[in-house]
Amino acid sequence: MVKNSVVKIIFDALLPYYCRGCGRTGSLLCEECRGEIKIIGEVKGKNLGDLKKLYVGGYRTGALEMLVKDYKFKSMKKISGVLVEILDEAVPKGLEVVIVPLPTIKKHIRERGFDHAKRLAEEFAKRRGLEVCPVLKRVNKTVQVGADEETREKQAKEAYGIDFIMAQKFFGEDEKAGRLEANRLDPRKTYLLIDDVWTTGSSMRAAAKKLREAGAEKIYGATIEIGSD
Ligand SMILES: [Zn+2]
Repeated sequence: MVKNSVVKIIFDALLPYYCRGCGRTGSLLCEECRGEIKIIGEVKGKNLGDLKKLYVGGYRTGALEMLVKDYKFKSMKKISGVLVEILDEAVPKGLEVVIVPLPTIKKHIRERGFDHAKRLAEEFAKRRGLEVCPVLKRVNKTVQVGADEETREKQAKEAYGIDFIMAQKFFGEDEKAGRLEANRLDPRKTYLLIDDVWTTGSSMRAAAKKLREAGAEKIYGATIEIGSD
């Protein structure tokens, strides 16, 4: 087991990058396949719930779909760089927001060895010079895989909570405009929730609802890809 993982680490390090679109070696996404990804930007006409806006990199197909899959399920962390570049094109420049990663189920973090949404959020924030504020936390362990849409929606509603200790750390208690109410998020900030994919949107809506209930008034969402349903 140990031997295997060491071999795998060495193999992964030596393996030349290959394009997830065409297989050509040299990069994770070649120029040509990159050019074929149509950047979506703001998405309208979806059930956004408490989100005021939704920004999306591209449709879940072809190279983009492969990149997200390998990033998440093969734990190829380096792919986050390419994904964040795509997200960076989709989200308007100069947006003043506090970045909130959609919290990942602990079991998935353990299995993958990293938190895929947190990594995307942190790299995006770094690129834009924004602050990451992980004020959301998972409060139960429900897993969505295989569940029907109604069950997913119900599970999602119970999945998130606010980490107020974290919120206080970020916003402080003695801001100029007056002490923030206990257990309230700063309503003057705009929050940008980040996740890898928008499928039915049930997770994002549930997370946005929690933020709103905790005092946030302006909540946006952004994902790398969106299901093409
Ligand atoms: Zn290619």
